[in-house]
Amino acid sequence: MLYNSTQNANEVVSAAQAIAQGISKDGGLFVPQEFPKYDINTFKALLNTDYKGRAKKVFSDFLTDFTEEEINDCVEKAYTSEKFGGENPAPISYCNLDGTNLNILELWHGPTCAFKDMALQILPHLLTKSLKKTYDGKVAVILVATSGDTGKAALEGFKNVDNTKIIVFYPVDGVSPMQKHQMNTQEGKNVTVCAIKGNFDDAQTGVKKIFTTQSVAQKLEENNMLFSSANSINWGRLLPQIVYYISAYCDMVNDGKIKLGDKINVVVPTGNFGNILASYYASIMGLPINKFICASNSNNVLTDFINTGVYDKNRSFYTTISPSMDILVSSNLERLLYKLSGNSDTTTKEWMTALKTDGKYEVSDDVKSVIKEKFYGGFCDDVDTKATISELFAKDNYLCDTHTAVAVNVYKQYVKNTGDTTPSVIASTASPYKFSKAVLEAVAPDCKLPSTEFDMVDKLHEVTNAEVPAPLANLKNKKARFFDVTESDAMEKYVLGALNIE
Ligand SMILES: *Cc1c(COP(=O)(O)O)cnc(C)c1O
Repeated sequence: MLYNSTQNANEVVSAAQAIAQGISKDGGLFVPQEFPKYDINTFKALLNTDYKGRAKKVFSDFLTDFTEEEINDCVEKAYTSEKFGGENPAPISYCNLDGTNLNILELWHGPTCAFKDMALQILPHLLTKSLKKTYDGKVAVILVATSGDTGKAALEGFKNVDNTKIIVFYPVDGVSPMQKHQMNTQEGKNVTVCAIKGNFDDAQTGVKKIFTTQSVAQKLEENNMLFSSANSINWGRLLPQIVYYISAYCDMVNDGKIKLGDKINVVVPTGNFGNILASYYASIMGLPINKFICASNSNNVLTDFINTGVYDKNRSFYTTISPSMDILVSSNLERLLYKLSGNSDTTTKEWMTALKTDGKYEVSDDVKSVIKEKFYGGFCDDVDTKATISELFAKDNYLCDTHTAVAVNVYKQYVKNTGDTTPSVIASTASPYKFSKAVLEAVAPDCKLPSTEFDMVDKLHEVTNAEVPAPLANLKNKKARFFDVTESDAMEKYVLGALNIE
């Protein structure tokens, strides 16, 4: 199977190249030229295997330049019960809210308690094997600028992975104390964490600049290293997300919730559009999905897009209690537009160029009507997010995080507006303990807030009795290893120093 750039049909690469390179030279994103097709018999076979077996099947159909042995090795190393707290890394909790069934797909049982682990636990293994095929023998240097969650998930994924080094920059006052502690205590012999004096954009700009500075690339080359990226637009991060939709469907059949062949809806709390796009790709492969319900917070650029066909990022930016969805440019939407425009690189490029220059584009009537037919967009503000957490806990004794609550709320709106009772899978993207403050305020509005986030975790546990994930429970006793703070214009020097190649 080969991969194309969404913005240049002449750019054709192997899976290994797509993963090693991350983004196409023309600025487009890599997409598979065609999708494997799964019929009833394929799904029947998948019913009888576990998550790892399903992952191996999906990976082998997309990564045709990988051997079976390589794929098995990646999957076995990534989805261990040690790392994901059980045999099934993505279990479903069956809940009920006022008679509406909620099939909550918990994607946060990994080492950092957020759904990015589902992809970032396997990406390093896919990447090292891809590099071996394309740039044999080189050490990959991963640079990450983070506003919190991605940095920690990438550190956990890359820690002690042979032939990789990872350096993470975060804004010194721009992450929560819990996130800072999560990163500063990171274990591993190939990891470096550094705060920068500036905001997230400064960190991001600094990383991009280092990536494209010729003299730095030269120094790396001389030392048998090269830069690589763990960005959310890397195909190696999207592909693993297809697996859990297929696996969830199989689990629901095995649990007697649906019959093989029945349609489901998916409900996804959306930021960069990666997670929901993975479900769309699964449907192209044959997974019977009726509607894609795209849930946003007050940054509702996608809701408006789905309803009008106009994508317009010229609007106020809100800082919300579901921060991983505080995004105005959803990068992975480009892949959907490419598909819906009939794999047209010129059309996709036109829209993406308009987005860059005017912050805005309008898709064609054909694309609008397909989006209207398959997608439903809705949003929910912070007040309703908290009310949803509180309601679900009070009525069904289920504690969810702020992002998941946005999805539950939008799903309720959907059912009310459409009357559609198709069984629906709700993607749950973080442990409630990752956002203890907001969740505590939701379920115990009268309680006096403890002063540190660790105490909030304890308090939330006291109030709800919900289990605290081990990685967060253990964090309190961990000692910090990283204390560096650097000026944002000194990041290049810092990187060379950390790599010992000044
Ligand atoms: C990253 C993230 C999201 C958004 O996912 P996308 O794939 O970017 O749409 C939602 N919730 C949580 C907790 C996240 O970390």
